[in-house]
Amino acid sequence: MSPVPTLTDLQAARAKVAGEVGVDVLKGVDVPKSKTALSRSFNSDTITYPTDEMMSYAIEASRGDDVYKADQCTLALEAHVARITGKAAGLFCASGTMTNQLAIRTHLLSPPHSVLCDARAHVHRNEAGGIAHHSQATTLPVIPENGHHLTLKDVKSAAILSEDIHGAPTRLISLENTLNGTIFPQDEIVAISEFAQSVGIKMHLDGARIWNVAAETGTSMQVLCDPFDSVSLCLSKGIGAPIGSILVGSQEFIARARWFRKMFGGGWRQSGYLAAAAAYALTHNFPLLAGTHALARKLEAGLRDAGVRIMSSETNMVFFDAPSVGIAYDELTERAASLAEPLYVGGSRLVIHYQTAEKAVDDLIDLVRVMAGEKRKEGFVPGQTEQQPSDAGYPKLKEVFVRSGIKSTA
Ligand SMILES: *Cc1c(COP(=O)(O)O)cnc(C)c1O
Repeated sequence: MSPVPTLTDLQAARAKVAGEVGVDVLKGVDVPKSKTALSRSFNSDTITYPTDEMMSYAIEASRGDDVYKADQCTLALEAHVARITGKAAGLFCASGTMTNQLAIRTHLLSPPHSVLCDARAHVHRNEAGGIAHHSQATTLPVIPENGHHLTLKDVKSAAILSEDIHGAPTRLISLENTLNGTIFPQDEIVAISEFAQSVGIKMHLDGARIWNVAAETGTSMQVLCDPFDSVSLCLSKGIGAPIGSILVGSQEFIARARWFRKMFGGGWRQSGYLAAAAAYALTHNFPLLAGTHALARKLEAGLRDAGVRIMSSETNMVFFDAPSVGIAYDELTERAASLAEPLYVGGSRLVIHYQTAEKAVDDLIDLVRVMAGEKRKEGFVPGQTEQQPSDAGYPKLKEVFVRSGIKSTA
């Protein structure tokens, strides 16, 4: 006969399991150090650091279960963003990829169908092929003739309107603003939207950085969002919330998107503190974006002054051509990282966020100036570099994002 376990045996066994389950993740965390690094990183604006003030605000948040629509702060944030964008309803989600993909899935009914977008669009290039997977749609990636933004002419020549059985009719146009930091002219968006409406095509905006457009141009969020049936807005980029994106649209649209979100496994529970952190960010960080853009202009001016060709520079991003002064991107990444106070540079795209230190910008300009001087001494003559092979098959559209280093960020 095996011995009957005593109560103390069971208690000891439970205590042992509890010892295995528990963990202290705070051990070794160096908060001030991680904040310094991101103030000197040009990799992305997703890396912004939730401040103590933001965390203090968030700790007061409601703690209801959002799957049951029982979290007050989440509902309040959704209603607020819907209101300022002129839409009836909103849905707070974990990521911008989720809000984009939910929107596309919700707009599209059954195949055959196609989604028209810029060839550089995040929905096409950076969402793991989600359009094909979730929506069984083909994508029509269009190269803008002017190299900057899609025009009505581009859209009209690419959209599939006929019911000819060889084609997959275009049911959705997805635009992106900003795209690589550039601002989409609003009158062109309106023209595309009027055309779309006239032929029964829905309009989605990937407005991950639409806040930057509003901050830069002083255009209201409502005016920017009016031409669209749905808009996805990131809170975890320049706005500086720790996590989250919001999808806005009609009541019916959001109700159905909420259903798909559950299906995708994206229904979440006590999301109130995340909504509160995002609300804090909207209130306190949105007003800082204009200053962020000014710092990007300072970086642009400093690089130009050092002889560097600038490929694009609007809002908070500067795309620069390091080879135009004889510098290889990898070389710059390494030199920047090995400074006494390191800088983090991930290639041709330099992103400024509200926690970028002005000194980091000054230091980067100095470093590029020094390296460009070294290259000249070694015999580099500007203007005699081989330009990257850019035009084959892509007239007027050069890929401006050359990644370097190991970091890969959206
Ligand atoms: C970052 C980004 C998204 C969403 O990214 P997540 O990392 O999934 O939040 C969508 N569109 C654009 C243009 C973006 O920059």
